[in-house]
Amino acid sequence: MEKKGKKNVYAGTVLEIEGLDLNVEQAFELADASAERSAAACTVRLAKEPVIEFLRSNVVLLKNMLTRGYQAGKCIERRIAAMEAWLTDPQLLEPDADAEYKEIIEIDLNAITEPLLCCPNDPDDVRPLSQVAGTQIDEVFIGSCMTNLGHFRAAARILEGAPHVAGRLWVAPPTRMDEAQLKDEGLYAIFGKAGARTEIPGCSLCMGNQARTRDNVTVFSTSTRNFDNRMGNGARVFLGSAELAAITARLGKLPTPAEYKAIIAERVAAKAGEIYRSLSFDTIPGYERLGW
Ligand code: SF4
Repeated sequence: MEKKGKKNVYAGTVLEIEGLDLNVEQAFELADASAERSAAACTVRLAKEPVIEFLRSNVVLLKNMLTRGYQAGKCIERRIAAMEAWLTDPQLLEPDADAEYKEIIEIDLNAITEPLLCCPNDPDDVRPLSQVAGTQIDEVFIGSCMTNLGHFRAAARILEGAPHVAGRLWVAPPTRMDEAQLKDEGLYAIFGKAGARTEIPGCSLCMGNQARTRDNVTVFSTSTRNFDNRMGNGARVFLGSAELAAITARLGKLPTPAEYKAIIAERVAAKAGEIYRSLSFDTIPGYERLGW
C-alpha cells in the first residue's frame, strides 16, 4: 500500500476474528494489534478450552493478589466471583446469526508460505521475506506487549549454542513476571551467552524512551510500530516475528525463506508444544516466587 493518501478503513470499527485455533495469549496479540489499525475494539472467537484454562489461571493469580494485600480488594473479589461463576457453566458469546458486517475479509493462511514483514518505515508496507532477504541488520529488538513467553523460548532455542551475535540484540520481556519466568527456565543465560543486552521489562525500545537504537541503523523489531524516529533517530525498522528476529540476530541479516525454514525445523518445530505453552498459574506449584 502506498504511504501517501492511505485511508484507514478500520478506524472506529469492531473487528471480529474467527477461524483460528489459538490460546488466549495468542488471541491477545491480534486484539492488541487491532489498536494499530485504530479499531474501536476486537473480538477473537476461541474454543471454550483455552478460555477456561485462562480464567482458571487468572482466578489463582487474583487470589494471590488479594493475599498480598493489593488495593481495590473488593473489586478483585467481584472479578473472582464472576470468573468462578462462569467456570461452573462456561458459555461463550456468539455472533448473532443475522449480524451485518461492514466487510468480511477471508484470509487463506495456507496461501502464506513464508514470514511477512512490515518494511521501513511503514506498517502497511508488508512484504514476504523473499523480497527483502539478505538485508543487513544492525540491531534486533525482541520485546513489546506483542511478545509472550513462547516467543522468548523460541528465540532462546534459536540462539542456543550459536556464536555471539554480530550486531546488537536487545531482549526486553513485557512484564517482570515474564522476566522472572524466563530466568527461572534458564533462558537469560542463553541470551547472555549469545551477546544479548537484556533490558528492564516494559515497553523498552518500542516506546523509544527507556532505550533507543543508535542513529541511522537498520533494525529488526518484534514491536508494533515502525514510525520514523520512534525507536532511534533515522532508524529504518522492519517489523516481524520473534522467531525471525532471533534468526536475523544470528545471521546479522534477514535470512532467505529456506534458511528460516531450516532453522525453525531444527530448533522450534519439534518442540513447539513445550515452547509455546502458556503460563497457567493453577498448574505451577509455588508460582508466587516469580516475584511480580
Ligand atoms: S509502547 Fe508499550 S504498550 Fe505501546 S505498543 Fe509498545 S510495548 Fe505496547
